[in-house]
Amino acid sequence: MSQRPTGSAARGVDFFDVDSELSDEERLVRDTVRAFVNDKALPILDAAFVNDRFPSELIPAIAEMGLLGASITGYGCAGANSVAYGLICQELERGDSGLRSFVSVQSSLVMYPIHAFGTEAQKEKWLPRLAAGEAIGCFGLTEPDHGSDPGTMLTRAEQRGSGWVIRGAKAWITNGSIADVALVWAKTDEGIRAFLVEKGTPGFTTHDYRNKFSLRASVTSELFFDDCEVPGDALLPGTTGLKHALMCLTQARYGIAWGTIGMAAACYEAALHYADQRIVFGRPVSSFQLQQAKFAEMLTEISKGQLLNLRLGRLKDQGRADFAQVSMAKRNGCRTARQAAHLAREILGAAGVVHDYPIARHFCNIEAVYTYEGTDDIHTLILGDRITGKPAFE
Ligand SMILES: Cc1cc2nc3c(=O)[nH]c(=O)nc-3n(C[C@H](O)[C@H](O)[C@H](O)COP(=O)(O)OP(=O)(O)OC[C@H]3O[C@@H](n4cnc5c(N)ncnc54)[C@H](O)[C@@H]3O)c2cc1C
Repeated sequence: MSQRPTGSAARGVDFFDVDSELSDEERLVRDTVRAFVNDKALPILDAAFVNDRFPSELIPAIAEMGLLGASITGYGCAGANSVAYGLICQELERGDSGLRSFVSVQSSLVMYPIHAFGTEAQKEKWLPRLAAGEAIGCFGLTEPDHGSDPGTMLTRAEQRGSGWVIRGAKAWITNGSIADVALVWAKTDEGIRAFLVEKGTPGFTTHDYRNKFSLRASVTSELFFDDCEVPGDALLPGTTGLKHALMCLTQARYGIAWGTIGMAAACYEAALHYADQRIVFGRPVSSFQLQQAKFAEMLTEISKGQLLNLRLGRLKDQGRADFAQVSMAKRNGCRTARQAAHLAREILGAAGVVHDYPIARHFCNIEAVYTYEGTDDIHTLILGDRITGKPAFE
């Protein structure tokens, strides 16, 4: 994280010198993505958000930096470690949650399951194109009437000859209408399984949500499967139950844990800069105790989040990270970002409700991020289950 630009005694948003815990390679990845976000993304993100538009013109540069499927080795992917992947998400979401969501979905929810559960032919067909940004993917799990409880999904896939017929609908799907391939979860006689449905397959249509106040720089769509016939090799053979969908979610939640701390840092830095410039009662806003308490709160929570994420990343690279730890980090990151966005918005006064500063955008975005990939409530229940051994979901 950069030091505070004003040159005062504050130690910016790396108060515990987390930087020195990173390898040279991890720092290089972070600095490369940070420069991209500063130079290429931030100048267009506000307009993209206001115009309800995903800035797809950034995809080639994102692919060029190796950010798509970064954790996968081979198939044109970068083979980065988990900490580097986390840092990628942190920097992208410092820009905008829509940008991070695009990379999360492509990497953790489409490329990861193809790599983990697909045939060699499926990997060869899709992974190099997805890594190069030549193909876009989406992940269809949520349904109009089944979000937090995907095990009760209604979408069904039935065998017909050598292929399958899919019937049902998916709701709130990131990248839905721009995806070349939809990774769709459906109930079969052998349990919940995933299918790769290509754009243009007869019976497969999409419809975009146009009324979001959150994640506006991201495409969100409904997917409809009306007697949609797919060939036998559309099935991801390694998927045999909901546990495999949950494994994908664990990957994506890990990235969100890092991304949300990036968002919190963006809010903190923007508010600090504003509070140094804005004069009230003859003094900078930042010189008042009430405002300093807000900065102390933000910096404390950001620092805790950075340390938690780094430890989680190291555990993940050792194969020792557990899904409940990922739940804690996702829940913590979202809470930290939500609080930072609220405090930062408050510090900016009226300027906090307009798009001239990035805070209003983050303030809106965190509401979707707090809800998707398991709501705060669901992660609380996951932790409650882990702590007590008594699942309280139903
Ligand atoms: C912008 C955006 C993008 C998204 N992208 C995707 C995507 O790419 N793919 C995908 O599959 N999904 C996606 N989602 C869907 C997202 O994952 C769901 O919205 C989320 O899982 C919550 O489901 P729901 O909205 O149906 O809420 P519900 O499940 O209806 O929950 C409503 C409320 O009830 C609470 N609740 C639920 N269960 C319990 C319980 N057992 N105990 C106590 N309280 C409970 C919840 O916390 C929430 O507050 C996206 C959502 C948004 C907003």
